[in-house]
Amino acid sequence: MQKGKIDVTSENIFPIIKKFLYSDHEIFLRELISNAVDATQKLKALASVGDFKGELGDVTIRVKLDKKAKTITVSDSGIGMTAEEIDKYINQIAFSGAEEFLEKYKDKTDAIIGHFGLGFYSSFMVSSKVEIVTRSYREDAKPVKWTCEGNPEFTIEDSTREGRGTDIILHINDESKEFLEESRINEMLKKYCRFLPIPIAFGTIKEWKDGKEVDTGKDKIVNETNPLWTRKPADLKDEDYQAFYKDLYPASEDPLFNIHLNVDYPFNLTGILYFPKIKSNFDIQKNKIQLFCNQVYVTDSVEGIVPEFLTLLHGVIDSPDIPLNVSRSYLQSDSNVKKISSHITKKVADRLQEIFKNDRDQFEKKWDDLKLFINYGMITDEKFYERAEKFAMFKNTEGKYFTYDEYEKLIKENQTDKNKSLIYLYASDVEEQYTYIDGAKNRGYDVLIMDGQLDPHLINHLESKFKDSRFVRVDSDVIDKLIMKDDKKELTLSYEEQGELRNVFEGAGGESGKFWVQFEEMGAEAAPVVITRSEFIRRMKDMSAMSGLSGYYGSMPDIVNLVVNVSHPLVKSVIEQKDQDLAAKIAELKAQAEPLQKDLDGMKKANEKKKEEEIPQADKDKMDELEKSIQELNSQKESALKDFGKDHALTKQLIDLALLANNMLKGEELSKFVKRSVELIKPKSKKK
Ligand code: ADP
Repeated sequence: MQKGKIDVTSENIFPIIKKFLYSDHEIFLRELISNAVDATQKLKALASVGDFKGELGDVTIRVKLDKKAKTITVSDSGIGMTAEEIDKYINQIAFSGAEEFLEKYKDKTDAIIGHFGLGFYSSFMVSSKVEIVTRSYREDAKPVKWTCEGNPEFTIEDSTREGRGTDIILHINDESKEFLEESRINEMLKKYCRFLPIPIAFGTIKEWKDGKEVDTGKDKIVNETNPLWTRKPADLKDEDYQAFYKDLYPASEDPLFNIHLNVDYPFNLTGILYFPKIKSNFDIQKNKIQLFCNQVYVTDSVEGIVPEFLTLLHGVIDSPDIPLNVSRSYLQSDSNVKKISSHITKKVADRLQEIFKNDRDQFEKKWDDLKLFINYGMITDEKFYERAEKFAMFKNTEGKYFTYDEYEKLIKENQTDKNKSLIYLYASDVEEQYTYIDGAKNRGYDVLIMDGQLDPHLINHLESKFKDSRFVRVDSDVIDKLIMKDDKKELTLSYEEQGELRNVFEGAGGESGKFWVQFEEMGAEAAPVVITRSEFIRRMKDMSAMSGLSGYYGSMPDIVNLVVNVSHPLVKSVIEQKDQDLAAKIAELKAQAEPLQKDLDGMKKANEKKKEEEIPQADKDKMDELEKSIQELNSQKESALKDFGKDHALTKQLIDLALLANNMLKGEELSKFVKRSVELIKPKSKKK
């Protein structure tokens, strides 16, 4: 027997292993099985070039659990090791600067194992003692046994082993008893070894015979050695892809599309990505893509490796070219990873383009489910936008689909305004905005439906892309002004009359703080009062709500425009009744104010050229007094108008009807409206 000390730069590697790698103890099994797979594949490679002439035979890797002895054994029939090789590969661990490395990445314990020769040593995370019994494939090789108890001392001695290959025997320590459960091992095998290229056996197949469970003695193979992504797309059918998807995500609905990635230059990448069907916006799940390295499962957090928007996809990616032993920030700046990322983007776009071209019907049918991914990609990935703008779809309120180009052609003629801007009208809720949509359609306009979670962002994005174009929600203005064809019609009301009518409407319920009362000439056929929401303010509010910030716009009250159609007969009659009731009073207040105003104007003129300190105090006092009196008269006028409005059933009714059309009349106001309506409908003769 030979004794020795493990040669590492650090005094003792074991505390480091335990300290830094504690979070993921279970990966020890992945590491040992990966080594076994490597050893087997090396042997196969030697055989294929004629350097190994023996029989390959059964190369199944076996995982054995002995609960009594508290051991887990991983056995392979790979190349094995000679005593010299153990010394070289196991004893003189090839990691100069391991300590340094661990120091640097101590927060990123996830990926440092494996590629720094720590793989095998991870078994000490769960073992009090590890034995290697191995025999090299070389003809005259003698079996040897290496033993180590988690300290820098080891022994190496002659041993017995029938054929070539390696057994790694772990004596599981007391803190790691969980790994002595069959179910736990099965769970780890499923997670890490499911698609390894060499058969892995754990336990035996049991069968029911005559009401009894009988052990068949046959190996239970836990992995699929030729997973779908390693096969040629030409050999696969749709059903195969669907079945594989179900296998990966048993609880999910059928996917919309799949994309089979198969690249061997300038890097190696295979995989299958799926567009999942998302039932609701709450359903979106990132991190459903599994990343493999030569069929060894690595991680399901692929940010930085695939473009952000594609993290919404499902499926598998396998590449030996993605550096796994580094931090995420390094990963994102790695040029290989960047190439891979942009290649995946291109592939995804190509595939979508192909489906669009070959089966537009199908594409349209799936668009509502697809659009989240595509729009997200278009907003966040310039390269993807350039490809996707050819097949991205608009859907209008009639359920018809158009490409961006087609839609532009459709509306160009009728929806270009006087400033040559093309106006895209849209609705975010077909039910709620029905009246507005209807109004726009009657004008011969087309209305898009933009009700997706990302649509506000998409709209902003498209406005920056489309030339001379704007998106305008149908309820953001009165129909005449949605798309301004010619200059605004002059109002028949004077500025003063507008002020009076505004007071009346404010008194009747259109109070400022909730409404902005405005006037338009919309014609006798249009509604007497219309509610609109400024596109700009609404968008600002929407965006700040979405970004979770309250900010200036977020905290702004929800003020809507109350647009009064002054050419409507009912509004005209409000004006008439107001004049009837108040003309005399207003005239009187005006008569009182006029001489005061004249005096004030005169004094202002006289003192116009003087500096502030040159104006006599008496004059200043007088002017203040005049201003106050005028103001007082004005506010008397204002209250008279508001009081009139407050009791004016018709005005109130007009406002309420507009609110009602917008589903904004609720509670007490609604009940008052109903009562008032009954009053108004009552036959006149019976009214007292
Ligand atoms: P890595 O696998 O990353 O090289 P390990 O510490 O896991 O690091 O293994 C070190 C070396 O020991 C391997 O490169 C290989 O040469 C050898 N080795 C480990 N396990 C086996 C095995 N089951 N059969 C043959 N050689 C092995």
